[in-house]
Amino acid sequence: MPPRAGNVFMVVAPSGAGKSSLVNALLKARPEIRLSISCTTRPPRPGETDGKEYHFVNAAAFEKMQRDDDLLEWAEVHGNFYGTPRSWIARQTEAGNDVLLEIDWQGARQVRAKFPEAIGIFILPPSIEALETRLHERGQDEPHVIARRLLAAGGEFAHAPEFEYVIINQDFSAALADMTTIVTAARLRFRSQAARHASLFSQLGIPQASAPL
Ligand code: 5GP
Repeated sequence: MPPRAGNVFMVVAPSGAGKSSLVNALLKARPEIRLSISCTTRPPRPGETDGKEYHFVNAAAFEKMQRDDDLLEWAEVHGNFYGTPRSWIARQTEAGNDVLLEIDWQGARQVRAKFPEAIGIFILPPSIEALETRLHERGQDEPHVIARRLLAAGGEFAHAPEFEYVIINQDFSAALADMTTIVTAARLRFRSQAARHASLFSQLGIPQASAPL
C-alpha cells in the first residue's frame, strides 16, 4: 500500500444485526469516512434508490464486471450477487481517505488478501431471538426470505473469529460508541499517524515502519 493509504474498514454482520443503521450513524458522526457503494443483482427494496444503497445491475452487467476484473471482491449471498467496485476503492485509499465496506464474510476474506491491513468488524445481535424479531419488524422481506436469512446467519456467525473486532449490538448508542472507538484506534496506528503527520515524523527522525504493525 502506498504511504498515504487510508484505512479500509470492513463491517460484516448477518442481516438483521443492525449493521446498516450502525454504519449510517457512524457516517453521520464521521462524515469524512467514505462508504463504498456495491453493485448487486438483488432487486431494490421499497425505499432503496439506485446509486445510494447499491448500484442495482442485471446479471449480464454483473458478469461483465467480473470478466473485466472491475470488482475488488464479489460473492453470492442469499441467491444474489454482490461486489465492490475496485477502482473507486483504490482512488480513495491512495488519496488517504478512510473507506468503509459493508460486505459479507466471503468478500472480507478477498479484501484481506489484497489489503492485509484492512480492519474487520463483525456485528452480533444480542440473541438469536432478537435477530429474528428485527428481521420481521423491518418488514422488508417475504417470510421465506427471512427464514433463509435466519438459516444463513448460523453459518455467518462461524466466521466471526476471522475479524479483529466484535460489536454486540444490544444497545444502539453503546454499539455506535464502540464502532467510533475502533475508527479512532485505527487512525492512531503507527502507519496512519506517520502518513498524516509526515513532516513531524521526519523532523523527529522517526524511521518508516518496515512492516505494518
Ligand atoms: P442485503 O441484501 O441485505 O442488502 O445484503 C445482503 C448481504 O450482502 C449483507 O451481508 C451485505 O453485507 C452483503 N453485501 C452487500 N454488498 C456486498 C458486496 O459488495 N460484497 C459482498 N461480498 N457482500 C456484500
